[in-house]
Amino acid sequence: MGVCPKGALELVETWVEVDENTCITCGICDRICPVGAIEVMK
Ligand code: SF4
Repeated sequence: MGVCPKGALELVETWVEVDENTCITCGICDRICPVGAIEVMK
């Protein structure tokens, strides 16, 4: 998905999966999600 600079987000049917091996916990997806569906835990 375009919001992630590392390409760690993937739309799978009706949900989003995060590749934990690729995610750098930058928090962009957390800040940009309009419904607060993602919370980055550091
Ligand atoms: S925290 Fe950053 S790197 Fe991780 S999934 Fe969200 S946008 Fe991508």
